[in-house]
Amino acid sequence: MTSLRSFRITGKTKLLGVIGHPIEHSLSPVMHNAALAALNLDYAYLPFAIAPANLPRALDGFEAIGLQGFSVTIPHKQAIIPLLSEVSDTARAIGAVNTVYRTSAGWGGTNTDIDGFLAPLQGYDWQESIALVLGNGGAARAVVAGCEQLGFRQIHVVGRDRQKLEVFRQSWHHPVFDRLFVAEWQELANLLPQTNLLINTTPIGMAPHPDASPLDPFLLEKLSSGAIAYDLIYTPRPTRFLQQAKALGYGAIDGLEMLVQQGAVALQLWLQQPVPADIMRSALLDFLQCRNS
Ligand code: NAP
Repeated sequence: MTSLRSFRITGKTKLLGVIGHPIEHSLSPVMHNAALAALNLDYAYLPFAIAPANLPRALDGFEAIGLQGFSVTIPHKQAIIPLLSEVSDTARAIGAVNTVYRTSAGWGGTNTDIDGFLAPLQGYDWQESIALVLGNGGAARAVVAGCEQLGFRQIHVVGRDRQKLEVFRQSWHHPVFDRLFVAEWQELANLLPQTNLLINTTPIGMAPHPDASPLDPFLLEKLSSGAIAYDLIYTPRPTRFLQQAKALGYGAIDGLEMLVQQGAVALQLWLQQPVPADIMRSALLDFLQCRNS
């Protein structure tokens, strides 16, 4: 019955979707449609390839066809902000929107990547801990905001371009700014021994380059004992970085749960009801297993 529902489009079917460019790689339709089917709701979640120049027209078109809400991925996460009527404080602080919903005044935007990132880290006391973030792109912004929420004493962001790092640091305000430090890759050896949570937000190690790792094992073993390595990448699972961390006795968290939980929070916002995150996770795992076999 569940699988039948996902193929039944009726005259009353409501639409959700995801915009990006390209969009073919997106796994969001897999997990959202699985949840909608399990909830037996007359909804469909579709991918929309929107070139950057077409973004304003796309929003008007979505309004015209009554789209209920949509996810936003690269390259629109920042560009969409000025086109929205309402932007949540979280999305403003991060400087990126990944979820758009309807309001009486037009489209509203928020960012659920932070909820996704935080999900596997809940239940620990991070108050005296130090986080080290590899990369200073879009995902790093949600990670920094999440680490601030968890109460990390210091948050270090490591990048390869000193100018970009300074722009990144200056873009934050109190209270994030007070705990945020930036450094270049060659400073890693000094930072790792104090680091309790090491997060990879670069694409290094992502398919189709699964043999790459952001750190070589000789550097990684400088990480403080008991530390956790967290890789935002979810294909392959585990990445080379996490394999190395596990072999050295560190904890390891991959990016799948972040993907699932950011999607679940978005779907809950659109539907205004609880959603089955376990179904979304299983749908993704099934899909990835079939794709890789
Ligand atoms: P992004 O905005 O392009 O940022 C990528 C960052 O990685 C930039 O700071 C970039 O440095 C750095 N970088 C790229 N290649 C590098 C290299 N060879 N050496 C050193 N640094 C390098 O991308 P993003 O949106 O933040 O996404 C980053 C990763 O996170 C992707 O793998 C994405 O799939 C993953 N992600 C996962 C989730 C999830 O739900 N699990 C959510 C969001 C993102 P420069 O600025 O110097 O170019």
